[in-house]
Amino acid sequence: MEVYNDIQSVQRKVNSLIREGKSIGFVPTMGYLHEGHENLLKAARKENDFVILSIFVNPLQFGDGEDLDHYPRDEEHDRKTAEKNGVDLIFLPTNDIMYPNPLSIEMTVTRRADVLCGRSRPGHFEGVVTVLAKLFNICRPNRAYFGMKDAQQVAVVDALIQDYNFPVELIPVPTVRESDGLAKSSRNVNLTEKERHQAPAIQKGLQIGRKMVEEGVQDPEQVKEATRQFLESETRGKIDYIELLSYPDLKPVDHINQQVILATAVFFERARLIDNVVFNQKSRASKG
Ligand code: AMP
Repeated sequence: MEVYNDIQSVQRKVNSLIREGKSIGFVPTMGYLHEGHENLLKAARKENDFVILSIFVNPLQFGDGEDLDHYPRDEEHDRKTAEKNGVDLIFLPTNDIMYPNPLSIEMTVTRRADVLCGRSRPGHFEGVVTVLAKLFNICRPNRAYFGMKDAQQVAVVDALIQDYNFPVELIPVPTVRESDGLAKSSRNVNLTEKERHQAPAIQKGLQIGRKMVEEGVQDPEQVKEATRQFLESETRGKIDYIELLSYPDLKPVDHINQQVILATAVFFERARLIDNVVFNQKSRASKG
């Protein structure tokens, strides 16, 4: 397994792979790898000749007062996890390597980002698409793997790829969960013991909403309210949002008769957790 901090070494490798006609699978992460990330790596390993993992805690996608300083890191563990999952190359840049100068050209996300996490975290998706545009240009992958835990990110990356003609196939991967249903997240280590007990209620609350729709409820307000009541009774976390929108367009719906996402974000003391279900009316959850 090769490990590089600098862009030139990655580009040199990628150029020779492309010359040899090898396919490249790419998994961008912020590190502190867990089974969710491992599932992306496994999918990439299965479908490509060469697998690149990037580990970069991108400061551009964190707002003021967010958990950039508390974001967990463990490079040794990440290297071992990468090795175990057959990663061929880790790209581990520093901030100075990724952003040597202030950017002269900035990207703005005009759709799919004014709702859900985009509304609560202004500038977040601008930071995400900026770093991904750079990483796609550096790694030149045939396929890039993203988790449905961050379903809005999948929708925004889909738009980035379409709008800017990146020759990359976006592969969404289902959410990996703990046995009690809590979505695996690097941020779960920042939960207190009590909060950790309450956190599975997030997915349970979303499933209650999904079941209502599958049983025929078509009014989004009723569904969101049932999820809210459950979350408020089962956790002491502060609900940031509960939204039900079309997916992947992320537009408001009056009447549920298409594929939708029911998503929530909950603030605990030192961690903001997100989760979602994507489903069609009267069908089983399709993803995530
Ligand atoms: P992060 O390191 O949190 O930026 O995540 C890197 C990638 O892993 C993103 O595409 C996430 O959606 C994905 N990911 C994070 N947690 C999970 C999970 N529990 N299941 C599946 N994918 C995940």
